Amino acid sequence: PEHITVQELANRMAERAADIVKFLMQQGQMVRANDTLDADDAELIVEEFGHTVKRVSEADVETGFISSEDPEESKQPRAPVVAVMGHVDHGKTSLLDALRSTDVAAGEAGGITQHIGAYQVQLKSGDKITFLDTPGHAAFSAMRSRGAQATDIVILVVAADDGVMPQTIEAINHAKASGVPIIVAVNKVDKPDANPDKVLQQLLQYEIVVEQMGGEVQAIPVSALKKQGLEELAEAITLQSEILELKANPDRSAEGVVIESQVDKGRGPVATVLVKRGTLSRGQIVVAGSQWGKVRALVNERGQQMKDAGPSLPAEILGLDGAPEPGELFAVVESESRARELVDYRQRQRRDKSSGMSSGGASLEQMMAK
Ligand code: GDP
Ligand code: MG
Repeated sequence: PEHITVQELANRMAERAADIVKFLMQQGQMVRANDTLDADDAELIVEEFGHTVKRVSEADVETGFISSEDPEESKQPRAPVVAVMGHVDHGKTSLLDALRSTDVAAGEAGGITQHIGAYQVQLKSGDKITFLDTPGHAAFSAMRSRGAQATDIVILVVAADDGVMPQTIEAINHAKASGVPIIVAVNKVDKPDANPDKVLQQLLQYEIVVEQMGGEVQAIPVSALKKQGLEELAEAITLQSEILELKANPDRSAEGVVIESQVDKGRGPVATVLVKRGTLSRGQIVVAGSQWGKVRALVNERGQQMKDAGPSLPAEILGLDGAPEPGELFAVVESESRARELVDYRQRQRRDKSSGMSSGGASLEQMMAK
């Protein structure tokens, strides 16, 4: 709802309605406890009374996934989620393919067979890294605008023979806007005309000061083709993630983000999701964007069935009634009726939006969510 009564607002702030009425009167507005306020007024009052207005993402509200931070003591270390970005042809796909070969779990389990939008590798050290492989920046932008930040670290791939190019700059801007730390992978150092130093020099213009230049951003020379520098790159990721102290509570109902989806001829709608917190299990009911379903199967990048998936683990889920959009949130809900309710709400929102009924701006729920 875009409106809230004075009384309800007072209740939520643990203040007296009479004090709100008095405050508004001083502002020249006559209201009674049962009158409704719009979002702007409510926000003003909340601030006036010394409470903080907490804005949560629209996605949380639309899907009803408003839930509080987990207590610190419930959290456990989780693997970093890494996105590879950079200019076309600078070697993003090649690097992701090369990094798969660093997976020590691959030998026993048969390697990564399917091309799914996200996969996790285990390093010799035992550390794990989740890589996101999305075709372009659009999916990342979608996630960001929905408040569904999925990425912890951006690997900025810059070809050493080509240097900084338009999409390199775009990726830098994206990472900065998201507040995600960058690790530079200077790729194609095997090429005769490679000039890694020039790349580091060029990056200065975009306020990326690498360690070699006295700054704090790690830059690793690599060759995806010759599989050089991969261990160093993995080490850099591990180091960066230690600095970030990434943690999540695995012992709660799962929430996360849709990375990609498709409707498969044999398997029906398939969504690759990344669990952000909690543990997703087979048989649970999930809502993903405006789709819902009972998780019939959870599949990893090796095509193996999983019983459950914890934080930072990507998985394909089968059993949804349609394909949710990349960047949309998913969450486990307690019942089918709750799932239907959320999906109905979401679809109504969409209809309202497309027919221009949306009032725009932050709704009260967005501000007031606890
Ligand atoms: P993307 O568009 O960023 O995903 O780039 P690709 O991974 O498709 O690579 C583009 C081209 O660069 C391909 O022909 C690759 O074989 C080549 N390439 C990628 N990495 C390297 C490298 O380290 N050295 C050399 N010499 N070529 C590379
Ligand atoms: Mg590619």
